[in-house]
Amino acid sequence: MSENLFHPPIGKQVFLADYDPDYHEGDKKHAEEQLSDLQKRLFALQERLYAENKQSLLIILQAMDAAGKDSTIRKVFEGVNPQGVQVSSFKKPTEIELAHDFLWRIHQRVPAKGMIGVFNRSHYEDVLVVRVNNLVPEAVWRKRYDHINHFERLLADSGTRILKFYLNISKAEQKKQLQERLDDPTKHWKFSIADLPVRHQWDDYMRAFEDVFTLCNTDYAPWYIIPSNTRWYRTLTITKIIVHTLEDMNPQYPEPEEGLDKVVIPD
Ligand code: ATP
Ligand code: MG
Repeated sequence: MSENLFHPPIGKQVFLADYDPDYHEGDKKHAEEQLSDLQKRLFALQERLYAENKQSLLIILQAMDAAGKDSTIRKVFEGVNPQGVQVSSFKKPTEIELAHDFLWRIHQRVPAKGMIGVFNRSHYEDVLVVRVNNLVPEAVWRKRYDHINHFERLLADSGTRILKFYLNISKAEQKKQLQERLDDPTKHWKFSIADLPVRHQWDDYMRAFEDVFTLCNTDYAPWYIIPSNTRWYRTLTITKIIVHTLEDMNPQYPEPEEGLDKVVIPD
């Protein structure tokens, strides 16, 4: 798999029609073996990142409802030391959050040095749901693409690597997933009737996402459009990109204190 396959060229208009949500290669059994190997590498890399305490990794997940953000987070990070991973879910802003600029609540949750931060939804909601539902005037959301690029540049300049994943499912797959939530009593809590109008806004959302991938796709904070109708392929692909990025960051254990070789632990 070439990771570039899923990373749109920077500066070019993105059309989601060019990205097949059904795309996958290999088979599930082999994927599970690969995943378990990758998870071991992720475990070791996360420990080195934490010990080094100089860089951080921010992973942003965006998707239509029921695309599998929650299960992606669960699967990718199972087995990783919870102390080094901070997951933040961004819901409808509170009154206090709305009384500030849209990045205020986001900035508080960016990973500190040594940490992996995972955003389940993010500041991109402010140019997605907000734009599609006209929650603020166009003159306000239009400026946000620049604000976001500058904000992400600031994080990158401060030692944060940024990876942004869009879980690309088809409208038919969303229907299937929503139906599952309806049919399974243990998933009823995830179902909200208020989410249904989003089905009618599907095309508007796709256009808003295309603008995000066109205007906020940078070398310091790249987007990846991950085919997500096949769940095992989605999990494997995202884990691979995260592991390869951490390998590239190459965190190192810090030098031990001087004289450790002469230390005798007192009785
Ligand atoms: P799932 O995909 O499993 O349903 P979820 O991420 O949708 O999980 P919910 O609690 O169902 O979690 O929904 C969060 C809601 O908050 C979404 O509808 C999202 O669009 C909304 N939201 C997030 N950020 C903003 C924002 N800045 N402005 C308005 N709405 C927002
Ligand atoms: Mg939801």
